[in-house]
Amino acid sequence: MPDTVTKPEEFEEQEVYQEFRKLLDAYLASNHRKKVDIITRAFNFARQAHKGVRRRSGEPYIMHPIAVARIACEEIGLGSTSICAALLHDVVEDTEYTCEDIQNLFGSKIANIVEGLTKISGGIFGERASLQAETFKKLLLTMSEDIRVILIKISDRLHNMRTLSSMLPSKQYKIAGETLYIYAPIASRLGLNRIKNELEDLSFRYEHPDDYKLIKEKLTSTQEERETVFQEFIAPIHTALDKLGLHYTIEARIKTPYSIWKKMQDKHVTFEEIFDILATRIVFEPKEGEDEINTCFNIYVALTRIYTLHPDRTRDWVNHPKANGYQALHVTLMSPQGQWIEVQIRSQRMQDIAEQGVAAHWRYKSPSPTDAKMDGWIHTIKEILDDPQPDTLDLLDTIKLNLFASEILVFTPKGEIKTMPTGATALDFAFSIHSFLGTNCIGAKVNHHLVPPTEPLNSGDQVEILTSRQLQVKREWLDYVTTAKAKSKIQACLRKMDREKQSEGERRLRDFLMDKDIEYNTNILDKLRIFHQRPTSRKLLLDVADGQIALGDDDINFLRGKNKNNNSNSFTWRNLIPFVKSGNEQSAKDNRQSSITDSQSSDEQWLKTIDRKSVFVIDESTIDHCHIAPCCMPIPDDDALGYIDESAQTFTIHKRECEQANKLKSQFGNNIVAVKWNMQRGHLFETTIRVEGADEMGTLFQIAESLFKHSGLNVKGLNIQTDKGFFHADLSVLVHDIKEVHALCEDLLKIEAILKAVRV
Ligand code: MN
Repeated sequence: MPDTVTKPEEFEEQEVYQEFRKLLDAYLASNHRKKVDIITRAFNFARQAHKGVRRRSGEPYIMHPIAVARIACEEIGLGSTSICAALLHDVVEDTEYTCEDIQNLFGSKIANIVEGLTKISGGIFGERASLQAETFKKLLLTMSEDIRVILIKISDRLHNMRTLSSMLPSKQYKIAGETLYIYAPIASRLGLNRIKNELEDLSFRYEHPDDYKLIKEKLTSTQEERETVFQEFIAPIHTALDKLGLHYTIEARIKTPYSIWKKMQDKHVTFEEIFDILATRIVFEPKEGEDEINTCFNIYVALTRIYTLHPDRTRDWVNHPKANGYQALHVTLMSPQGQWIEVQIRSQRMQDIAEQGVAAHWRYKSPSPTDAKMDGWIHTIKEILDDPQPDTLDLLDTIKLNLFASEILVFTPKGEIKTMPTGATALDFAFSIHSFLGTNCIGAKVNHHLVPPTEPLNSGDQVEILTSRQLQVKREWLDYVTTAKAKSKIQACLRKMDREKQSEGERRLRDFLMDKDIEYNTNILDKLRIFHQRPTSRKLLLDVADGQIALGDDDINFLRGKNKNNNSNSFTWRNLIPFVKSGNEQSAKDNRQSSITDSQSSDEQWLKTIDRKSVFVIDESTIDHCHIAPCCMPIPDDDALGYIDESAQTFTIHKRECEQANKLKSQFGNNIVAVKWNMQRGHLFETTIRVEGADEMGTLFQIAESLFKHSGLNVKGLNIQTDKGFFHADLSVLVHDIKEVHALCEDLLKIEAILKAVRV
C-alpha cells in the first residue's frame, strides 16, 4: 500500500460531504424533477456501507461512487434514478448488502439498474479471472433492457480512467486496452462524443506516454499559429452572421492527441503533415418561430459567399441524422492562407445531443426519428446475441464491426432511406431488409443497373434485390459483407449446411462399413481420421460427403490390419506436425527443431517466475525466453507489453497498440504483464522499412549503399514494385533498436529520389 497520511477523520468527513454537495448542486441546476430526498438517502446508505474502505489512492471509497454519480449527472445529464444507482453501484458487489436490500429501500427501478451493474462488473478490478468478451456480451444484453445501466457503467469507467495512475502498471494496460476496445466504441455509438474522446485520450496517454507527450508539446508550440489562422478565418464570418441577426458562438475545435496519433499511424504521416488539426464550430440559438434546419442552411449560404467550398466535403447530417442521433451540417472551406478548414454548423439542441447523446434526447423529449434508429440498433444486437455462436470473441468482432463503421444512406425501390455502414454491399442491404432476401439474393439492381450481390454500395444508391429460390448461401459471401446481421445469418446458414453435409458423410460411411461387416463407432472413426490425415472427425465426414475422400479397399485393409495389431504405434498424427519453436530472430533463423516436452517443461518453469504485478525487464538475460509477436514485430524501445500464453507456454511481446494484443487485453487481462526494454545492443530484431520515391537509375544502388553504411544492418529481404515511374520497396532489416531505424530512415531520405522512408 502507498504510504498515505491519514487525515483527521472529521476533516475527511467534511471533504466527502463537500463532494456530495457539488453533486446536489449540479442536480438542482438541471431541469429534472427535484428528488433530493432519495438521493440523500442513497448517499447516506452507500457511505455507511463502504465505511472504513479505501481506494488504492488512499481516499475513502465513497468518493468513487460520488464521482461516478457526478459524471452521470453533469456530463451525461441523467436524473435522480440514475444518480441513486450510481451512488449505490458498488454496494452489492463489494459489501454484504444484496439487491433485495436495495429493492426494499429504494424500489425496483433503482435495484434493477444496480443489479445490472453488478452482473457486468465481472471483477474488472478484482483478482478474479475476467473474461471480457463475456462481460461485453452481458453488457449489451443488459443495455437492451435499460440503457441507463450502460450509461452509468461508462461513467464508472471514465472515473476509473481519470484515476488510473494509482493502479498497478499491469492493470493500467489492461484497463486502458479494454477502454479503447470496448467502452470508447460504445460511448461513440451512444453519441457520447466528448466522453468517447476523453476515454480514447486517457487510454492513449497510458499506453504511449512518450508519444502522448510529444504530440501535446507539438500542439502547444503550434497553438499561436493556429490561433492567428482561426481569428483571420472567422472575422468575416462574424460580420455575416451578425447581419443575419443570430445568437451564436464560434469556437475552434482542435483534434485530440489520440486522433492525431491514430492518423499518423494509419496514414504513415508526421505531425506536420496533418492538416485538419483545426476545425471550427458554429452553434446558434434558433430565433423564435424559425426552423433550426433552415437556419443551418442560411448560415451555409452566408459562408459560401465568403469562402470557396470544397465540392466533395459537404455532409448533411441535419436532414439525415446519424444512427447515434448526431445532427449537424459540415462544410469545408478554403481559408485565406490556402488551407481547407472544416466548419460544423448546428443548433444548441443539436450540440447537446452531439455531446450527451441519448440522454439529451430524454431532455428534449421530442419523439425524434433517431430514437427509432437507436431502438433498431439495440434490436440488431439482441438478434445477434439470441443466435448462439460458438465463439464469443468472434461475436465481439462482429459487433465491433457495427460499432466502428461510419455510415452511408441507401434507398429502397420505394424511396425509403436505410442507413448502412460504409463498405456495405448489396448482400448487406438484402439481409437488412429480410433474411429471405439475403439468403436467396442472386443479384441486385443498383440505380437500375444489374450488379452481383457482392457489389459495394455508395451513399445515395437506390437498390432493388433480386432473388432466386434455388440459390444457396455461399461461403465466399462472408468476405463480402460488413454488417453484423448479414454475417451472423450467413454463418448460421453455413453451420446448418455443414451439419446436413456431415450427416450425409456419416450415412455414407455407415453404409460402406455395414457392407464390409464392420461396426461404425467412434474408435473406427478416429482410425479413419488418422489414416486420411484429417484434423477432426467432422472434417473427415465432410470430405466423405462431397467425395474428396473415396472410401475403398485401402480403408478396409488399414482397419483390419490395425485391428489385429493394436500395439503398433508407428503411425500417429502428432508425428506429422514438425514442431518449430519460433522465438527471437536467432532461433527462428536456425529453424531448429526441438522436442515438445523439453522446451515446454523449461518454459513452464520459467513462466512461473514472472511477477505479473511488476514491470518485466527485457534484456540480454531474458530475451531468449521472449517470443516476439509476428503480428506487430516490436523492437527495443517500442511501447510494448508481455502476454503469458498459458496454453502455448510462451511469453509473447506485443506492441501496445497491436490489434491482437487488444483482444488479449480484453479476454485474458490477468495474463498481461507490463514490460520495459533494457537491451544493450546484443541482439538483432527484424523490422520492415517502406521506401517510396521516383524510379530513377541508380536509386537501388544508393539504397544498398546506405544500408551497407549502417554496418550492423542485415538485410533479410527486399521487395520492390515499380509503377508509372514510381517505386515502393519494403526492406526487411535486422536492427538493434528504434534509434537505429530512425538513423537509417534519415539516411535514406537524403537520397534525392526517395520521398518517403518509414517503418511499417
Ligand atoms: Mn465502480
